[in-house]
Amino acid sequence: NFGLSAKVDVIAPSASLQVAQRALELKRLGKDIINLSIGEPDFNVPVPIKEGLYQALENNYTHYTESQGVLDLRKELAKELGHDIEADQIILCSGCKLGIYLALETILNPGDEVILLEPAWVSYKHMITIAHGKSVSVKTNEKNNFIPTIEDIKKAITDKTKAIIINNPNNPSGQLMPKEILDEIVQLAKEKNLFIISDEIYSDIVYEKESFYSMLNYDYEKIIITSGFSKNFAMTGLRLGYIVAKKEIAKAINKLHQHIGTCAPSIAQYGIMGKISDVLKNDVEDMRKTYEKRRQILIDGLKETIFPYIIPQATFYMLLNISKLNMKSLEASKYILEECGVATVPGIAFGESIDDYVRISFATSDEMLLKAIQRFKNINI
Ligand code: PLP
Repeated sequence: NFGLSAKVDVIAPSASLQVAQRALELKRLGKDIINLSIGEPDFNVPVPIKEGLYQALENNYTHYTESQGVLDLRKELAKELGHDIEADQIILCSGCKLGIYLALETILNPGDEVILLEPAWVSYKHMITIAHGKSVSVKTNEKNNFIPTIEDIKKAITDKTKAIIINNPNNPSGQLMPKEILDEIVQLAKEKNLFIISDEIYSDIVYEKESFYSMLNYDYEKIIITSGFSKNFAMTGLRLGYIVAKKEIAKAINKLHQHIGTCAPSIAQYGIMGKISDVLKNDVEDMRKTYEKRRQILIDGLKETIFPYIIPQATFYMLLNISKLNMKSLEASKYILEECGVATVPGIAFGESIDDYVRISFATSDEMLLKAIQRFKNINI
């Protein structure tokens, strides 16, 4: 007992980690493991950005930048985002994750409640705990495409509710939030004076583009959007994320950022500068098309397995229904690993609503996907 903080003590080791560790063990034993638990693009950084990174180094852009981010990059991003967003509404930070945490720390007082819509990305609830808030989960189900109903959200609201976190497109379900429910959530937030944190980190990996509706479309002043370049631009390790909020809120968030994050990596900021629009049009679109082809491989191949699936409208994730195994997700994930040598993420990591599912990722080659499908076909129950 080192006398560590209580808030760190309550953070449980994640369910997905248990499976990941076993996968590593099996690999060390020489087993041929297919890793479908991956949470990042398998692509390399787009070439124009790579060149920008070399150039940034050559120019010695290795110093601190303005805490909020290099102004020219914020201007470029503001233009790209549209909706009359201005540079001083944007904070560039070290990844979307830090952006979400800074937003939570800026708005929460001890005991404040934050509504999470299941399935909810694993880190939200821990970040809320660390920020001394309390998470309140709203359940969803497959019948509703894992989209919450406004009635269920209303039921979760108390006089302590401070914010709702939306993840659109959703990790792990790959579903998009329909505009109608977003309209209702914004209306509700206005009535109850709540913040909305909208995590849109997968906004450019979308297969039904007409259905993606960003929170940038609303002018409600308590919307905070978090996003970044990790997933869309395949640059997870370069740690470049951003927050978009009303000026006053952005200013408050940046006060924290100055003390916690200083600034986003200078090399990443200068590396991407002047390239966003072209990379989006070319490289990001090429990656999106490749993901779409892989998604089709899964849609076709998995039909012949015991796993019904949810077709993702976005992201590189897919939920497989494992109820035919007569197990809950953690057990099923372990079983699939031992039986097929395929690593997946148990649904329970994202909330009880998807304890009958495991998440697979198609951020891997066609060959690996086909091999995994073949192994799934061989499962005997
Ligand atoms: N938000 C969601 C929903 C994610 O799935 C992830 C990464 O897995 C992040 C945020 C973190 O993004 P970043 O790497 O930019 O911090």
